[in-house]
Amino acid sequence: MDRFQTVLLFGAPGAGKGTQGAILGRIPGFFHLSCGEVFRSLDIHSELGSVFYEYSSKGELVPDEITVKMWAENMKAQTVLSLFKSHDDLLLLDGIPRNVKQAQLMEEYIDVLGVVHLVCKDKEAMIKRLRRRALKENRIDDAQEDVIRRRWEIYERETAPVLDYYPSDLIVEVDAVGSPASVLQHVLEEVVPIQDAHFNNPISGEHD
Ligand code: ADP
Repeated sequence: MDRFQTVLLFGAPGAGKGTQGAILGRIPGFFHLSCGEVFRSLDIHSELGSVFYEYSSKGELVPDEITVKMWAENMKAQTVLSLFKSHDDLLLLDGIPRNVKQAQLMEEYIDVLGVVHLVCKDKEAMIKRLRRRALKENRIDDAQEDVIRRRWEIYERETAPVLDYYPSDLIVEVDAVGSPASVLQHVLEEVVPIQDAHFNNPISGEHD
């Protein structure tokens, strides 16, 4: 199997990866997958659903092997359903890999062409964003301030080192502060050239 051509949307909790990913995923030739969303869509009474609940309600990461296996199975299902076409679509991953171990486990599946790091220097502003979203979306993990802070701690300790795992020339920083449209503009500046370089135009079928 060919590895999926992939761009990682990277950033701290609240940086806006999901917002950007959801918009980009609507554009032909991009396929967005949020690991958190896949987890949240599980039936909470299923075995995996209850494992997810156990960890996420504390702001902890689900164990790596389980996570990567679930992600790989989900990608397979998306492929079988032709929702994701690995020869036509640039895969945009958000929320995975979340630590170096996951990055290693995913090597066999993904060819990372770029990492878009949504940078937010103002931690307190991000925490406010998460609390607002939690109230709107009824999310268990971000409703309590101590759980949000735990998520941040884990990000700083486990997730941030993923940036050192990939070659530095693949990583671009985009300022996450600003309106979704202005962040999108900057993200597009980075991902469109990658799509153009690796895929045919999804509408005309021609290479640009
Ligand atoms: P969102 O990006 O929508 O805020 P998250 O990506 O933070 O959602 O996911 C919510 C929860 O799902 C996390 O707190 C964690 O428990 C679990 N989770 C999501 N992605 C991973 C991952 N790659 N590894 C381990 N746990 C994960």
